[in-house]
Amino acid sequence: MSDKPERFIDDEGLRLDGRRVDEIRPMKVEMGVLSRADGSCYLEWGNNKVLAAVYGPRELHPRRMQKPNEVLVRYKYNMASFSVEDRIRPGPSRRSTEISKVSGEAFEPVVMTQYYPGAVIDVFAEVLQADAGTRTAAINAATLALADAGIPMKGLVSACAVGKVDGQLVLDLNKPEDNYGQADLPVAMTQDGEITLLQMDGHLTPEELEEGLEMVKKGCQQIIEIQREALISRYGNEDEEGEEAE
Ligand code: UDP
Repeated sequence: MSDKPERFIDDEGLRLDGRRVDEIRPMKVEMGVLSRADGSCYLEWGNNKVLAAVYGPRELHPRRMQKPNEVLVRYKYNMASFSVEDRIRPGPSRRSTEISKVSGEAFEPVVMTQYYPGAVIDVFAEVLQADAGTRTAAINAATLALADAGIPMKGLVSACAVGKVDGQLVLDLNKPEDNYGQADLPVAMTQDGEITLLQMDGHLTPEELEEGLEMVKKGCQQIIEIQREALISRYGNEDEEGEEAE
């Protein structure tokens, strides 16, 4: 692992990667990249590279796991062994099990589960290259993969972290900020601003928490725009098409 930097923010207010404190890393998405999945999305966010694939809705076996009145959404987050500096042991870990659980729950308020009782929707999020913020990157990719699979949703979910370095709040932590910073707060929210995932490492004062959540909300709004553009470029803008047809 690289050494702890002496400072994270310079006199000009710029971070080690040249960003301002409230700036997210550049994000690039591509939908429909896997032909055998019902929906998929490849997402790059700074140096993170993540692939999300959705299979279903399909019948759930064994049947005793079926939910009689709704669809079961299963979310599996996995870091490829080659995705980090020190190779990760393949297979599930406590960390990946926890991330899978909370990330799946982040979609509960938006996925309209009543439409496919007894069925299952499987979401796989594979981290190919990790550089801090992989759980949030995976959620951003998974939202688009779910939409690509045609899963009925009330809206999109976007996710971003906020943290603290050199005593200052910073949006979308990079690797050194995540590893050596004073706090890391990954958040996911619906497009209406309802928080669906909130975790915290480190310490923030109540005031910092409030300010950090405002920063993260702005970051998530930018991400929603990127997600929306990706959807429009793949499926077109229904409103515009409707207008043209008139
Ligand atoms: N990381 C690593 N090995 C691990 C877990 C994490 O090298 O076993 C790195 C990876 O770059 C990851 C970062 O540490 O993105 C931060 O990990 P964290 O657990 O905070 O999750 P993330 O920020 O990726 O959601």
